[in-house]
Amino acid sequence: MQKLIEIADYLKNKGARFADAREHSVKDRTLITENMRINSFREKEISGIGIRVLYENGWGYSSTKDFSMNGLQKAADEALRLAKAANSISSEKIDYAFEPVHLDRFATKIQIDPFQIDPAEQASLMLAASRKMLKSRDIFKTIGYVYFKRQERKYASTDGSQIETVLYSVLPEMIAIAKANGEVKSRTWMPNACNAGYEYFKELPFMENAERIAAQAREHCFARQCSEGKTNLILDPLNLSLTMHESVGHPTELDRVLGYEESCAGRSFATLDKLKNFRYGSDKVTFIADNTMEGGLASYGYDDEGVKCQKWKMIDEGILVDYSAPRELAKKIGKERSNGSCRAELYNNVPITRIPNLYLAPGEKILSKEEIIADTKDGIYIEGRGSFSIDQMRLNMQFGGDAFWEVKNGHITGMLKDVVYNAISYEFWRSCDAVADSREFEKAGFISCGKGDPMQIGQMTHGASPARFRNIMVRRGK
Ligand SMILES: [Zn+2]
Repeated sequence: MQKLIEIADYLKNKGARFADAREHSVKDRTLITENMRINSFREKEISGIGIRVLYENGWGYSSTKDFSMNGLQKAADEALRLAKAANSISSEKIDYAFEPVHLDRFATKIQIDPFQIDPAEQASLMLAASRKMLKSRDIFKTIGYVYFKRQERKYASTDGSQIETVLYSVLPEMIAIAKANGEVKSRTWMPNACNAGYEYFKELPFMENAERIAAQAREHCFARQCSEGKTNLILDPLNLSLTMHESVGHPTELDRVLGYEESCAGRSFATLDKLKNFRYGSDKVTFIADNTMEGGLASYGYDDEGVKCQKWKMIDEGILVDYSAPRELAKKIGKERSNGSCRAELYNNVPITRIPNLYLAPGEKILSKEEIIADTKDGIYIEGRGSFSIDQMRLNMQFGGDAFWEVKNGHITGMLKDVVYNAISYEFWRSCDAVADSREFEKAGFISCGKGDPMQIGQMTHGASPARFRNIMVRRGK
């Protein structure tokens, strides 16, 4: 930490308006099983220091793996040189939102460090589930996947903040693939990816879910095609997590809104003129951003600009009320403070606006998924994530799913296949007429959200209770 403080002071003495230095070490482990063998095991570790500097009206960034004072000064000089160059051609005044000074430590609460556990033990849990799935009728292939990540950050800025964080994340997944009736179909079990220790992974109910997804993968091979046209959709939390990520999470990133970010499906229709007056969804639709959520993948304690993680409303009873705003852009739109959602993947990435932990608030009325289904005359119930696409303004979107069931006269009547739904994002959220209550709320983490040039990977948690959407266009995906 001392070196980081010295580097921030060094840049201040050279005329920087603001500077911060971030030491970032990441260790991760990926373990994949296929049928009864370990298909791949990879572990990697990377660490270095990133230095960001604001000189008059220009930003500069540099990074190094050389932790010596000499190495750090070289990187600091480079960042300053780039900031001066940016300033010489800058046509706009740059400012950044105030943040109180923080002297703090934050760590994911864990009991067992996954990196202290033999990978063979980790694989054995997945292989036991695999054995069970392979005994099921028509299952010919199984995949187990687990990803563990440990991140350590030290941060110091010319504001005077000194912050240390240690985060542990885990992403588990299991897939059963069946061949029957001339079809090959899969079913995925994707328990919540979250910030947690090894104890979370160890306690996951592998065996009971192995049986369920193996049976559903086979059933999927005998599923009927859906009829095309408008129908009512009942979506489970995991399916909704991807839909909200793409159609609410990304469009409310302020850098996209202001036109500073265009890669990875572009900008945003949720422009500033719509703030506080645009109907983004029905009055059943409230979205809460919460980077203080326990176990949330974006619960970093502090973001990579030294801003304390916060909780705020993004959409309130259907109305767009806020964005995810880093310090510079928050100031640009007259906000007093950033809401702390600016993060970098590694030491050599510039921190960028990131989707926070973002969830659809559960309905206030007591209502279960079963009651929603019982109240639906015609429709399709969808579980899990499938493929998707969305346009550059995040308006025209289409999503699949992992498993689909027909709903007739209040009952599930059988499995369907290859269902794709299609909508304009705000029309989709406006059509939401029922959200189940908090008893059915489930979280669903993302660990590989791609954004930026060069591309960075980000992580965050979404969540929802099952919800119904009226008159959505459904097509066959095949
Ligand atoms: Zn994303």
